[in-house]
Amino acid sequence: GEPSVRRFPLWRTDGAVATALLHAGPVEFLYYWFHRALHHHFLYSRYHSHHHASIVTEPITSVIHPFGEHIVYFTLFAIPMLSTVYMGNGSALVFVLYIVYIDFMNNMGHCNFELVPKWMFQVFPPLKYLMYTPSFHSLHHTQFRTNYSLFMPFYDYIYSTMDKASDELYENSLKGTEETPDLVHLTHMTNLQSAYHLRVGFASIASKPSDNSEWYMWTLWPLAWLSMVVAWIYGSSAFVVERIKLKKMKMQTWVVPRYNFQYGLTWIENRSRLNGSRYDADVEG
Ligand SMILES: [Zn+2]
Ligand SMILES: [Zn+2]
Repeated sequence: GEPSVRRFPLWRTDGAVATALLHAGPVEFLYYWFHRALHHHFLYSRYHSHHHASIVTEPITSVIHPFGEHIVYFTLFAIPMLSTVYMGNGSALVFVLYIVYIDFMNNMGHCNFELVPKWMFQVFPPLKYLMYTPSFHSLHHTQFRTNYSLFMPFYDYIYSTMDKASDELYENSLKGTEETPDLVHLTHMTNLQSAYHLRVGFASIASKPSDNSEWYMWTLWPLAWLSMVVAWIYGSSAFVVERIKLKKMKMQTWVVPRYNFQYGLTWIENRSRLNGSRYDADVEG
């Protein structure tokens, strides 16, 4: 007969809705209680303590788990995909988007930098219960007994395990960008691929000079191009990408979202010069 995958559609809206509901329902619910169980001494000492070895997390912490734990997570994330296949409304794009969602949220939650803008919660207040933030999950790593949720905090609200400091830490972490640093490293992108040298990029690429291009970099070209478009739209004002505290010394890295070639375009150059003097004033002030 005909290979069944040939009939697998690219996109099914009903399947997308089913995936979202199956995630918010069974996946988040089962994860929450599995996570509570993992914090029981028996499982904690044998498994989950490995993930909690990081008090201060970084993106890669999101996948630091013993093998047995990974198998359980993999099984949980298969629920929406297999269910939609059996219901007959599964689609390729929804599979891809669901996996991207899991990886994106997981890495974001462990990035140790509050980046979810406040306007998102102002525009849609229920989002607070549907999307966690890096500061929310950081409390799970410092307090251990609060904020167990996977990506949707409402189970912590239902079972009263949400950390009461969540809102305050979120606000204060956002305000952190306004504190006066002792030292600012002001930088900008050079070529399209240079974005990967930032802290959010690849440590292995950043450890070498930027003219030392890796062969596999061409595969990242679409992403590099897209980030250039986003930077162009964002404008020319610097934003903070890294905050480091060494004893009492506060240091920040600010990125001006401009590439080398853009400084060659005169109309942008003039605008950037004006902004340049503002950075000086900001740093001194
Ligand atoms: Zn935990
Ligand atoms: Zn974690």
